[in-house]
Amino acid sequence: MSRFLCARFAALSPYVPGEQPRDKTYIKLNTNESPYPPSPGVCAAIDRTAVEQLRLYPDPDCRELIDALAGRYAVQPENVFVSNGSDDILNFAFMAFGGHDRPAVFPDITYGFYAVYANLHGVPYTRLPLQADFSIAPADYFDAGGMVVLANPNAQTGVALSVDAIEEIVRRNRDAPVIVDEAYVDFGCDSCVPLTRRYDNLLVVQTFSKSRNLAGARLGFAIGSPDLIADLNKLKYATNPYAINRLTQLGGIAALRDDAYYASRCRAIMETRAYTAAALQERGFTVLPSAANFLLAKSDRIPGTALYRFLKANGVLVRHFDDPARIAAYNRITIGTMQQIQSMLALIDTALKGADV
Ligand code: PMP
Repeated sequence: MSRFLCARFAALSPYVPGEQPRDKTYIKLNTNESPYPPSPGVCAAIDRTAVEQLRLYPDPDCRELIDALAGRYAVQPENVFVSNGSDDILNFAFMAFGGHDRPAVFPDITYGFYAVYANLHGVPYTRLPLQADFSIAPADYFDAGGMVVLANPNAQTGVALSVDAIEEIVRRNRDAPVIVDEAYVDFGCDSCVPLTRRYDNLLVVQTFSKSRNLAGARLGFAIGSPDLIADLNKLKYATNPYAINRLTQLGGIAALRDDAYYASRCRAIMETRAYTAAALQERGFTVLPSAANFLLAKSDRIPGTALYRFLKANGVLVRHFDDPARIAAYNRITIGTMQQIQSMLALIDTALKGADV
């Protein structure tokens, strides 16, 4: 820390992204990326002409991209906000809507960035414990007073709430913003986007990083009432109006034209997820029911950290969280290709046979 850092940031603990080691080539099942490439249309759109146009600033309003998203999600352009990954949008949401008299609320086990953004913006917050089966109890969030933030399906667990349950939460918080982070919604969970037409306190956040195979392009979007969207735009234009570069805008527009390709890749991931869950269960693992592109699983024989280390030493990266303690026995496994999963399962078999783990 330099002696110039503002005192209010001295105690801030930043988010720790999943590791990206460079010492060798790993099978990466640790950051919930897609194992599949972007669609052919995206690869064609980012051509030499597009690269040459990088001398010009991008469209700060992202008009074409926003129109394409509005068309895809059957809303109006004024209902759509786009920014540099959904992390950027969550950051703006905490900045814009977090400063209520009562604390923001989110689950104790969820996306770790929520607490970081709250701390960054001085937003008080309360973490509500998940139930014993790792599901969210909707009633815990009724009349919360402050901003409600829910990932659906939930991060780290993959467990999903129904749209009806979320609607009840939104209805019981008409005086507070409810942010529903749908980063993983396309892997078998219903979206709350249609609810945004009826509830002006609901903001749904999605990303191109997971189901549209564009994590490296950094593109997220939010759908909500025109007033919520205007608030987010105010902060974006007070921060970095050119947050979405030209290539990403082109890639995003092209991706929206290739819906069938992405739907087929999501189906492949869901099939591989079902296969992986069954294979792990056969090997004595407890696997949470996941509607996301990852599984949270624990072995009945190998401690979470030991399995994580063994897999890493043998070229497979999964994600292990020591904190919160309730998931320390687990590992979060991103669903890769069938071949990648087979490699991981073969290593798990070796580990279970009593190799030095
Ligand atoms: N929300 C959740 C629940 C996530 O797991 C992630 C990915 N780490 C994000 C948001 C952020 O995704 P991105 O910034 O790539 O859109």
